[in-house]
Amino acid sequence: MTPFLPGATIGVLGGGQLGRMMAVCARQMGYRIVVLDPSARCPTAQVSDGVVVGALDDVEAARHLAHQVDVITLDTEHVPADVLAELEAIVPVRPGARVLRTIQDRLVQKQFLDGLGLAQAAWAPAGDAAELAAGLARVGRPAILKVRRAGYDGKGQVRINEGPEGPSRSIAADPVAQLARLRGEPAVVEAVVPFVREVSVVLARGLAGEIRIYPIAENVHRRHILHTTRAPAPMPEAQRARAEAMAVSVAEALGHVGVMAVEMFELAGGELLINEIAPRTHNSGHYTYGACATSQFEQHVRAVCGLPLGDPRALTGAVMVNLIGDLWAGGPPAWQHVLAVPEARLHLYGKYLAAPGRKMGHVVLLDDDAERALATAESLISRVSRA
Ligand code: ATP
Ligand code: MG
Repeated sequence: MTPFLPGATIGVLGGGQLGRMMAVCARQMGYRIVVLDPSARCPTAQVSDGVVVGALDDVEAARHLAHQVDVITLDTEHVPADVLAELEAIVPVRPGARVLRTIQDRLVQKQFLDGLGLAQAAWAPAGDAAELAAGLARVGRPAILKVRRAGYDGKGQVRINEGPEGPSRSIAADPVAQLARLRGEPAVVEAVVPFVREVSVVLARGLAGEIRIYPIAENVHRRHILHTTRAPAPMPEAQRARAEAMAVSVAEALGHVGVMAVEMFELAGGELLINEIAPRTHNSGHYTYGACATSQFEQHVRAVCGLPLGDPRALTGAVMVNLIGDLWAGGPPAWQHVLAVPEARLHLYGKYLAAPGRKMGHVVLLDDDAERALATAESLISRVSRA
């Protein structure tokens, strides 16, 4: 197929920070960007050539966008697959409806991974209280209840503790109350994994099936939100190869086109379990923008436009720390402290409201000494805060 060369227009469904950073790279390469989002002031719209204001499940608005662009891609996996299927009749959509149908429902995603024979935490459907009780009996406690659709940053998740004999007996004893906390949405329940660390494999798959893999990232979460990433993750070679092979088999089985990330738990014995798949650029890949020859955002543009993929090689080690809305509690942070550090790169997403728990930006430290960079990251976070 002929590639969409610079000068073409890329449509983006969803106007968050991932779309924004992709748009910045795309425009640098000479592409035009039109975004669909409920807000005309969303992070992506601020750096786009055009914006269609509409909800992500608004088929008419999405069609209106499709008629203005050459190819469509996504900022979020929560665009309904049925909407993508409609758009595919108008322009190429990458990744398409088929990929999203598998990913956007946690239950279908888990069945897909089981079908590939890839290890994951013990899980069971939890559509109602009876199913949850049966599921808990299977997966054991502690467990986590997760809504099937539209969760992110730990939203739509409830932890179920030890059980009748454990510390949180009242919560644990009442599955109905657990489901009510998810407002009755269909859920899955999974065993809490005693991981020693979390890693993610970010890779790109091109139109012809070619694959480029970024150095594996090690991720630390706080309150279910990504806090820091370091790359490359300090992993033995054989284990790195296993993690990569798992991610590649996911990308190939999906027939994915674009960047995607596979989040994994590593157990004490070295076993790797897949946590979840993100069919898009990923927070743990932000370090690639600055640290790698080709950032995940440029790579995604290349893949969806049918161009040769870029070199994913890291030119330096890197640490990324997320800037969460809580940091704004005492007023706008004192960014000069970040900008005074030579190896620091500041990224802010242009969000107008700094709500607690909301991802507002991140800092990447370009440094081969990960321990030193992590220490710098923490000290910067406390120095920029005015609280
Ligand atoms: P995001 O989209 O930001 O990745 P999410 O809402 O889809 O988040 P998950 O990735 O399912 O959520 O979970 C967020 C984090 O919570 C995980 O990265 C991990 O730290 C923790 N977590 C989730 N499930 C489990 C589990 N089964 N065992 C242990 N920790 C878990
Ligand atoms: Mg996750």
